[in-house]
Amino acid sequence: YIKYYANPVAYDGDITGAILLLIDETERIRAEKIREEFSANVSHELKTPLTSIYGFAELMSSGLVPESDRQEMDRRILHESKRLLTLIDEIIMISRLESGTQVSTEDINLTDFAKRLEMNFTTYAMERQVSLHVAGSGHFKSNTTMLWELVANLIENAIKYNREGGTVDVSMTMDRQAVLVVRDTGIGIAEKDLDRIFERFYRVEKSRSKKRGGTGLGLSIVKHIVKTLNGKVAIQSKLGEGTTITVTLPIKENRGVK
Ligand code: ADP
Repeated sequence: YIKYYANPVAYDGDITGAILLLIDETERIRAEKIREEFSANVSHELKTPLTSIYGFAELMSSGLVPESDRQEMDRRILHESKRLLTLIDEIIMISRLESGTQVSTEDINLTDFAKRLEMNFTTYAMERQVSLHVAGSGHFKSNTTMLWELVANLIENAIKYNREGGTVDVSMTMDRQAVLVVRDTGIGIAEKDLDRIFERFYRVEKSRSKKRGGTGLGLSIVKHIVKTLNGKVAIQSKLGEGTTITVTLPIKENRGVK
């Protein structure tokens, strides 16, 4: 997509030259298309749980639901409300990251940070019968909230897409850069999906992922945070064997740059 502007320049009535301006619009149009798709997806994704909540609440208030079914309906309303809240939180997070706000930094003790992460996910890992180990060493100057969101999203996936008796190993170390590795022995990701899983709302086999409670936004948030912190993310995976995600973050961050 290229736009042309041709402006003749007149001096004393004579045309002495012309200005030709070429603007490559490819990136702008691509970004616009992604935004449009995102808005359409957001509306759809928000509408789905809300429609369920509305439907169940309407039935409950009709007085026609037998006592034996009421508990299940309450459970569904709670489940869908929680999903709606998660979606809204994640959408807010993405728009904040996209607006490229200033990123404040603090000194983070990675040993303590790792302990807090492990504690936070202990119950979820136990529910899924997955053994979780999070280790960290050294200090890293970064944005605590972003680093937490980043690693927490990866750990949550590593537990969620695991199998009974599986393991999740997380290490956070400092070298010339911060290196975060999240390794799981879970279900793995097929090669054809690897390029796409960082896209917004992309889920491998929608029904399977939805059953596990995903929104399809987690890895898109990861990608945004890594970009904001000027880092890199690499993924290695084998179907049926597991996935390893490695994030490297430079020590000297270029703050607040999108
Ligand atoms: P979701 O909220 O659905 O988990 P994500 O953006 O976090 O969304 O991940 C996108 C998709 O990538 C998931 O639906 C899942 O199919 C796949 N995925 C992500 N992490 C893993 C993992 N560690 N192992 C296997 N599949 C994964």
